[in-house]
Formats: sequence, C-alpha cells, structure tokens
Amino acid sequence: MPAQSLLQFTGKSIYCAVANAHIDPWIPVDRAIITHAHSDHARWGSKHYLAHKDSEPILRLRLGQDISLQTVEYYEKFVINGVTFSLHPAGHIVGSAQVRVEYKGEVWVASGDYKLENDNFATPYEPVKCNVFITESTFGLPIYKWQPQHEVMSEIDNWWRQNKSEDKASVLMGYSLGKMQRILKNIELQDKVIYAHGAIYTLNERLRQAGFDLPELTLVTKETDRKLFRGSLVLAPPSVDSSTWIKKFAPYSLGYCSGWMALRGAKNRRAVDQGFVLSDHVDWPDLNTAVKESGAEKVYVTHGYTSIYARYLNENGIEAGEVHTMYGNEDENEEEEVVQDISAGTEAYEKHKESLDDEVIIDTKPSPKQSQKEKSPSGDLGANTHTA
Ligand SMILES: [Zn+2]
Ligand SMILES: [Zn+2]
Repeated sequence: MPAQSLLQFTGKSIYCAVANAHIDPWIPVDRAIITHAHSDHARWGSKHYLAHKDSEPILRLRLGQDISLQTVEYYEKFVINGVTFSLHPAGHIVGSAQVRVEYKGEVWVASGDYKLENDNFATPYEPVKCNVFITESTFGLPIYKWQPQHEVMSEIDNWWRQNKSEDKASVLMGYSLGKMQRILKNIELQDKVIYAHGAIYTLNERLRQAGFDLPELTLVTKETDRKLFRGSLVLAPPSVDSSTWIKKFAPYSLGYCSGWMALRGAKNRRAVDQGFVLSDHVDWPDLNTAVKESGAEKVYVTHGYTSIYARYLNENGIEAGEVHTMYGNEDENEEEEVVQDISAGTEAYEKHKESLDDEVIIDTKPSPKQSQKEKSPSGDLGANTHTA
C-alpha cells in the first residue's frame, strides 16, 4: 500500500489523516484548524476549533460566542497523535496564520491567504521552510504587481482631501475584515470623526474591545444628521454601492479598495469614482518569492488562478498541482465580487508567457541589478524582497 500524503485534499478540507484534523474545512468536522477568520476559511459548525489567539474575537463574532475554540501563539507547537503543528504569521489579516505540519521529518505548510508587505496591523508574514507548500494564487498572474502601500494610502489621503474641498463625502468601500483595519492604520486621519457602516463598525469595536489599537469609529444611523457627512470619510463594505443606504451621503465620491481594481474596466463595472489597487493577497512577484523562500519541492495551488499558476510552476522546474477547494470568495456575506475573469487571465498569461520564459528561471540567481528588476515587471523570481 502506498504511503498516504501527510495532508490530503479530501473535498471538504485540507486533511491530516494521522492527526484526524482538518485545515479550513468547508463542512462541519470534529477538529478544525483555522488559518484566518475570513468566511471562506472559517466556517460554521465544527465541534472544536483551533486558531491563532488574534483570530479569536472575530471567530467568536462570526461563528458564535460559545464555539469550542483553543487558541495558540505563533510558533507554539501542539502535537496531535504524533503530528507536530504550529502556526506562523501569514500577514494577510489580523490573526492570519500559515499552518506548519511536521511528521516523521516531513514538513508541509498550508499557507491559507497571505501577503508579504507589512500592513502595520497584521503580524508580518514570515517564510517557513517546508517540503510541500500549499498556496493560494488569487492574484497569480504577472499583470498583478502592487504599488507600495504608502503610495496607495497617499492616493486615498489626496482623494479625501479633494472631496473635502468640494464639500463631498468620501465613501470608501473595502472588505470589513482586513482591508478596513489596514486603511485605518495607514491613512492620514484628517478628521476626529470617521463614519462607518454597521458591518465595519461592529468588527472595529470587537477588535478594540479585545485590545487592538484602532481608532474609534462613528456608526452611521438613520438619525445621523446628513449634513455631517459633508467632507467626511465614510467606511463601507463593498455591497453598499447598489443599495439605498449610500444615497444619504449625497453629494459623495465613491472609492473602492481592492486588488481587482488593477483589472482594466473594473472601476467602471463597479461604477465607482475612484479605484484604489490595494490587496491583502500577494501579487505576482511576492507569490513567486514566497514559493521560492519556502524551499518546497512540491507546491499545491488551492484558489485563484490555480491551473495557470500550477502550469507555470511545472514549466519552471517546481512540481505543482492544482486542487479544487471552496476557498476564494473572501466574505460571502458582503462580497459579491465575481472572482477573476478566467478568460481575461488566460489571455494575459499567454501574452506574458514569452517574456516569462525569457526572464524567469527558477533556481537561477536573479540579477541583483535594480534597473533590470524594474524592467521586468512580469516576475523576476526572488528579486522582489519583502517590503517592510
Ligand atoms: Zn482571506
Ligand atoms: Zn482565501
């Protein structure tokens, strides 16, 4: 009988049979290890949960106050039936973790969702050496290359300032968990009062109660005097753009923070005035950096441009496989974002393929020359270091 893999893709989770533990299961199980509190990874109904301690306030808010939840610190080892587990910072959102699984000298890492840039709120990502690396590829195409965070934050500052000068409200949409905390920690807070939709207000309050350093927000209610919105910043989840809720802010400018804003036409499809390209997932260069730094000889790609990215890795000397999971719809309750247009992705991949083949050779030391790095946006593996 062939030895079974340490982690398996069973159609309901990433499963460790020896420990009988499931990572991010999408159906109820006995023992669930949760990478982070986004609803596509942390689902309702399991008997016992285990997660990083910073995930606790949001997990309890979303899955129920009385769930059976054990929390651990990063790097803290826990052993289940001889399998050693530990959680390592993933830098995606508060409490997000990569799950390291070790058994009989073999190491697998299930990275959940992650980003390499330090967002000044989530504990920054750290590479974890492993034999097998399980990765997302939400933005796994060369067309996705993020600007440094401080540049996007200045764009938001300037947009707000401009709207203020025109006496308009600045309604800024983004994921309530992750994106909004990141924005609040990195923009210039031009007013004492920042307004928020209930979804964002509740999360922010929960995190503040748990001791996180976040500014206090003011909940928008039916009673709030509409005149107060003039010139103000209003934070909202992405579902509000087609709702009547938003009408009370008129005159307003509507902004949207998302990695998808990098796609041509995305801004118009969402009918927003201003798109800010800001994602809590890795872009193409950082995805390849992460894969390289893991040192893995085998990679599984769980969500996003899975087939394209798996093919890319295989063509570049890293054995890779695509797996089908239920991850990728960040927050079902508030995101109706149609995840990537696959046809657009395939086209973009084909277009870049030639330059990729020329420029990217895994296991070859990339040129350290800065000028060259800038000239090859299509992914010079390993040349992109973590931005702090
Ligand atoms: Zn996520
Ligand atoms: Zn995800």
